[in-house]
Amino acid sequence: MVITANNPDRKTWLNIPKNTDFPIQNIPFGVFLTRDDIITIGTRIGDYAIDLGALHQLGYFEGIALTDDIFLQDSLNDFIADGRKTWRAVRNRIAEIFDEKNKSLQENKEHQKVILFTLDEIEMQLPVQVGDYTDFYSSKEHAQNVGEMFRGKDNALLPNWLHIPVAYHGRSSSIIPSGIPIRRPLGQKMPNGAETPVLGPSRALDFELEMAFITTDANHIGEPIPVAEAEEHIFGLVLFNDWSARDIQRWEYVPLGPFLGKNFASSISPWIVTLDALEPYRTTSPKPVKEPLSYLKSEGKKTFDINLEVAIQPDGKKETIVCKSNFKYLYWNMSQQLAHHTINGCPVKSGDMMGSGTISGKEKDSYGSLLELSWNGKKPLKLKEGGDRKFVHDKDTVILRGYCENKKVRIGFGECSTKVLPAIKPK
Ligand code: MN
Repeated sequence: MVITANNPDRKTWLNIPKNTDFPIQNIPFGVFLTRDDIITIGTRIGDYAIDLGALHQLGYFEGIALTDDIFLQDSLNDFIADGRKTWRAVRNRIAEIFDEKNKSLQENKEHQKVILFTLDEIEMQLPVQVGDYTDFYSSKEHAQNVGEMFRGKDNALLPNWLHIPVAYHGRSSSIIPSGIPIRRPLGQKMPNGAETPVLGPSRALDFELEMAFITTDANHIGEPIPVAEAEEHIFGLVLFNDWSARDIQRWEYVPLGPFLGKNFASSISPWIVTLDALEPYRTTSPKPVKEPLSYLKSEGKKTFDINLEVAIQPDGKKETIVCKSNFKYLYWNMSQQLAHHTINGCPVKSGDMMGSGTISGKEKDSYGSLLELSWNGKKPLKLKEGGDRKFVHDKDTVILRGYCENKKVRIGFGECSTKVLPAIKPK
């Protein structure tokens, strides 16, 4: 099926802002609460949220095989489980409905009243119920920087890194949508020079600039997913801020890896941009330094040119952009990550989320964490307003943004914005 929804020349009859992240060529999927406290699956064009449950009830998806309640749900898991053909048919139909040449909804004010919402009338929810969350470590620049800080330049990359898309299993219960504030975590830390650990608020709270992809039901237990088929099982992508407490992490991580320093919160942008919508922005990954084993060999353009940035906004002050990076810098792409994840037969389900790992580039202003940007606190980062930062302060808001752009169309992910509240006092 052709992805007619991506037609770069299509215009919508909706009145939308010029450089919006959500032109009619994007058509992402999300879940929102309406002013009447009804939860529904929706999409977004410009600054309109569109109730897909209402569209479906009014017959606008006629001819597409969908169950009656597919959009009247509090998560996209069932819709995602319907598979790529359905996602594509629905996106194509939404593009048609809002095409300026199509008069049906355009001239039906009664229908518009129940289908269209302005953004201040809705509250975005988590788009999927995340069953399992895995976090990769796929940026060579990031792994190199962190390794250099803790082990020195010569041993920066561990021997497995160029052969395996390294990852750990995270925790899905603390994945939250943009806009929900987080508390500075408490934890056990071993201060420099001390002999016994202490409990206290993290003093090294950090963001991680990542993206995460969301899968459909992909395989049965025991069956690996071949690298060439992996994209068939990927629904789309969100911005992902994988909050990290470096001091807690440093003391706890030996020998089993990340635990409480990582699992207190991860924030995501609420609209899932589909792999179909990203199609025009395909590009190649960096050339492998070492030839991977054949199950990880990936041909052609298997990544996407997505511009990323992070801003820090101190309370009541102007924001400063502290990092500009790109999804295409990742050494291991999503197909390789999914092939590796399942080579042992590990089953992947609809709604599973796979974080890319911090996405750093080569330049010093492209590092995707404060750990790297401030070089472990040695070079505090100057903000335009609100002083400098080694790590994130209380009441700071950290904002991730991402967009793709070619000569004809720009599509984006909106924002993943999270404010940090002070720690709770330990009892
Ligand atoms: Mn991470």
